[in-house]
Amino acid sequence: MSLLTSLARQVTQQATIVAAQRIAAHAYQLTLASPAFVDWTYTPGQTLNVFFGLSARGGAATLRKRTYSVWDYNPHTAQLELAVCTFSDGPGARWAAQCRAGDEVSFYGPGGKFVLAPNAVGYALLGDVSCLSHFYALRRQIPTDVPVISVIHAQHTDDCFPDLDGSLPLHFVVADTLSAEQFLAAAEAQGLRSVPETLVYWGGPQTTCVAGHRVLQREWQWPDQLLKTKPFWK
Ligand SMILES: Cc1cc2nc3c(=O)[nH]c(=O)nc-3n(C[C@H](O)[C@H](O)[C@H](O)COP(=O)(O)OP(=O)(O)OC[C@H]3O[C@@H](n4cnc5c(N)ncnc54)[C@H](O)[C@@H]3O)c2cc1C
Repeated sequence: MSLLTSLARQVTQQATIVAAQRIAAHAYQLTLASPAFVDWTYTPGQTLNVFFGLSARGGAATLRKRTYSVWDYNPHTAQLELAVCTFSDGPGARWAAQCRAGDEVSFYGPGGKFVLAPNAVGYALLGDVSCLSHFYALRRQIPTDVPVISVIHAQHTDDCFPDLDGSLPLHFVVADTLSAEQFLAAAEAQGLRSVPETLVYWGGPQTTCVAGHRVLQREWQWPDQLLKTKPFWK
């Protein structure tokens, strides 16, 4: 066994899949339960690291870690929800599509810094559908009188899924591709520049969110402290 696998076995905890269901053409909702979730200190926007291949032979070659946003966490039932997209067809996507109730999952978390900063005068949530559960978790915590701008890129309508209560509080743009400039045009149409000091969260594909971060910083002179950028995938 490799040192990495041995280390991962020592730090991970176990959860059980309680339910797995398809919620969009390329997304599954997974419900996980674990005694470890009872005393969690959880902040909306935190993530879970899921490990695959820990029990397989072959050491580090088979070990994979993928990060998923906690869509919702219930301390009373010690359960949490994830929404995993399958566009990638990689180890994480295959795991989600094959998950069945009763399966065991090795995880580490919660963690991450792409979390809700309270008290902003407005928020903008920009990204693709792999960020949806993340942004729904943030959106639920934002007071109703605080403006929220959102641009969620989906290639097809059937890739969009609602929040856990069935609501659709975020704005979808359905298009083959969406450049950083097109994201910003859609956000500006919702008034991004008219609410100064809006805190911008930008997730999704690395090329788009990094390009968008630069445009906001250099051309829009958006203050660094109001820009939170987190590539979800490369
Ligand atoms: C902070 C954070 C939170 C995240 N939260 C979520 C989440 O809640 N739900 C979720 O589904 N993912 C989330 N991700 C992304 C996730 O960790 C994986 O990167 C993603 O699921 C792909 O893993 P994979 O093993 O299926 O494919 P990989 O083997 O990692 O990738 C295979 C190929 O697919 C491409 N690819 C990866 N993702 C996508 C995509 N969305 N659309 C199109 N092509 C893609 C890659 O460029 C690569 O070429 C998050 C990532 C971060 C950093």
